Amino acid sequence: MPMAPAYKRILLKVSGEALSGDQQFGIQPEFLDGVAQQIAGVAKTGVEIAIVTGGGNIFRGMAVAANGGDRVTADMMGTLGTVINALALAGALTNAGVKAKVFSATTMPSVADTYTARAAKAALEDGYVVVLGGGIGNPFFTTDTAAALRGIELQCDVVLKGTNVDGVYSADPKKDPNATRYDQISHDDVIKQNLRVMDTAAFALARDNNLPIIVYSLDDKEGLSGVLEGRVRSTRVGQ
Ligand code: UDP
Repeated sequence: MPMAPAYKRILLKVSGEALSGDQQFGIQPEFLDGVAQQIAGVAKTGVEIAIVTGGGNIFRGMAVAANGGDRVTADMMGTLGTVINALALAGALTNAGVKAKVFSATTMPSVADTYTARAAKAALEDGYVVVLGGGIGNPFFTTDTAAALRGIELQCDVVLKGTNVDGVYSADPKKDPNATRYDQISHDDVIKQNLRVMDTAAFALARDNNLPIIVYSLDDKEGLSGVLEGRVRSTRVGQ
């Protein structure tokens, strides 16, 4: 008999860089399809999946702000990139054989349904993978914070944050050879030690609402199902 999934509902953060592959910019179709296949495989086991897409492969507001541009406008441009990624991922999920629905935090009715927790929950209960674009819909935030917020709103059991290292380290392991990896660490310790795997705002929200976050490497061959089944080296933030 197949093992019952450990989680009923998960929130997955898919960064822009997970879709751009080895390109500097945009979406590389093979990477997009690879990510979609992994997600579809897990969805078919009955786990309910909400996804927050990043947009760093298209545009980051900070890049314009750093050159003296208006941050509010620049961040709105950034959020448009996250919607582009959400649409692309939902298309690839549909091709991979699962139902997917895009919601946008910013109203754009001819492009996607407008996000409400009520509508997104109903879609999850109907068996859709929901793909959430537009971050939280406000400038000065990132999609990591959106992942924590939506995880809480949608009553997910855990947030999964794929990155380029296999967990949370005491320092950047790519720069400091003495950096050590944690199997488990509290939200508070991540914040106090300023371990910047996600924004402080994301960790604070998750801490205040008892939402665990699993940080793992996107390069691990076992992929998302391996992470959920505990076969992948990762760090659990929170209980
Ligand atoms: N953004 C925003 N508000 C949000 C989420 C994102 O203004 O709630 C903008 C911001 O400009 C950010 C860009 O969208 O730089 C892309 O998001 P993010 O940097 O989180 O993407 P990722 O690094 O995960 O690909």
